[in-house]
Amino acid sequence: MARPMISVAGIRGIVGESLVPEEFLRYILAFATLCEGGPVVVGGDTRLSRHMMRHLAFAGLESAGCEIHDIGLVPTPTVGLMVRELGARGGIAITASHNPAQWNAYKFFGPDGSFLSAAQNRALLDVAASGAFRRAPYRELGRVKSRNDAIARHLEKVFAVVDTAAIAGRKFRVAVDCVNGVGALIMPPLLEGLGCTAEYLYTDTEAEFPRNPEPLPENLTELGELVRSSGADIGFAVDPDADRLAMVDNTGRPVGEERTVVLASLALLDRGERGPLVVNLSTTRAMDDVAERFGVELHRTPIGEAHVVGKMRDTRALCGGEGNGGVIYPRVHSGRDAATGVALVLEAMARGQVRSAELNARIPDYVMVKTKFGVEGQDVAALCRRVADAFAADARIVTDDGVKAVFPDRWVHLRASGTEPVVRVFAEAPSLEAANSLVKRVGEITAAPHELPGS
Ligand code: MG
Repeated sequence: MARPMISVAGIRGIVGESLVPEEFLRYILAFATLCEGGPVVVGGDTRLSRHMMRHLAFAGLESAGCEIHDIGLVPTPTVGLMVRELGARGGIAITASHNPAQWNAYKFFGPDGSFLSAAQNRALLDVAASGAFRRAPYRELGRVKSRNDAIARHLEKVFAVVDTAAIAGRKFRVAVDCVNGVGALIMPPLLEGLGCTAEYLYTDTEAEFPRNPEPLPENLTELGELVRSSGADIGFAVDPDADRLAMVDNTGRPVGEERTVVLASLALLDRGERGPLVVNLSTTRAMDDVAERFGVELHRTPIGEAHVVGKMRDTRALCGGEGNGGVIYPRVHSGRDAATGVALVLEAMARGQVRSAELNARIPDYVMVKTKFGVEGQDVAALCRRVADAFAADARIVTDDGVKAVFPDRWVHLRASGTEPVVRVFAEAPSLEAANSLVKRVGEITAAPHELPGS
């Protein structure tokens, strides 16, 4: 049997292959045990396997005596936010995020409403391996309480941190691609509340994803066309669980999801807020430029939302996120949240009296190449050492997560994926040729098969 992928991003697999109920139930039982039978919030995205995953989670939680707050179809950040609102012991989001439809996963939240820390995750794995699960006697089995107010409560928090009147005053026209995920449930009330008129693609939460659901530029062609045909000021695309946000500018050109967190940070700094920024090692260096422009610190962490959120807490950060379109603004929620990103970007457009292309032009342009190397059976740590040695003479080497070689105006980062059995290689430079040449050099050093875009 193929093994599920287990990381700080949860336990995920392909239905019928690496996702089988007996294996996934162990993690639910372990989580319920760590929650000591306390209340747990459960919600998730629209993929077809959601029913199986939900019943399985409920059975495990009930058996341990956990009261279940079933919040239904909701964005992943809404689960975390409701854990805090309800004072629950934990939360579970049933979603494989941007993975294709055959995947699903459980993502676990601690009582603080954030994903489990590395230490909490280790405790979860230990309990899952031990099989020493909490069992409730029959009178104390958990019960399910359904609630339908989660998205409204999430939006209250978003509306509280932006100038809704200023945004509404501009009467923006917006195009949105919800990829038939839970964005279809949060984007309409969000945009209505901000006084925007919106046209939508893919809002059927009972239908399958119409395309590869990752909001990468190559998947946003239709959104670009809708932006142009409807004369929209901006286009927004979210992944199936609506934590990641990508944009298309008013000319129909994808902005690139790397730039979402940069534009959101710029929006906050521009309105006078100050504090450190936190992103992961692979996020665009446009973040360094913005931090420098406003004289604030920028911290970089290993990949994974849990690492970013941990560092944000330690540094009392203003804002942070990841270059995959994840914006984290702790005043709303300590996790990536597309709704917050939409509100901040629209506010920046309203304040600056600009459309999206002009807003985007305010941050420096770099070209990032993201590719995967097939390295089956190879020692990834040894590959990283070889890459570090090869670049050490002329670059600063960072080894917090894989290996990153940083030059004054470009960088390349190689690391084992936490969600797929590959090594990811990202490079960023002022031009595509320069970024590709960094990837090529890593390819020569590791002798691993890979593809380069645009060449
Ligand atoms: Mg996601």
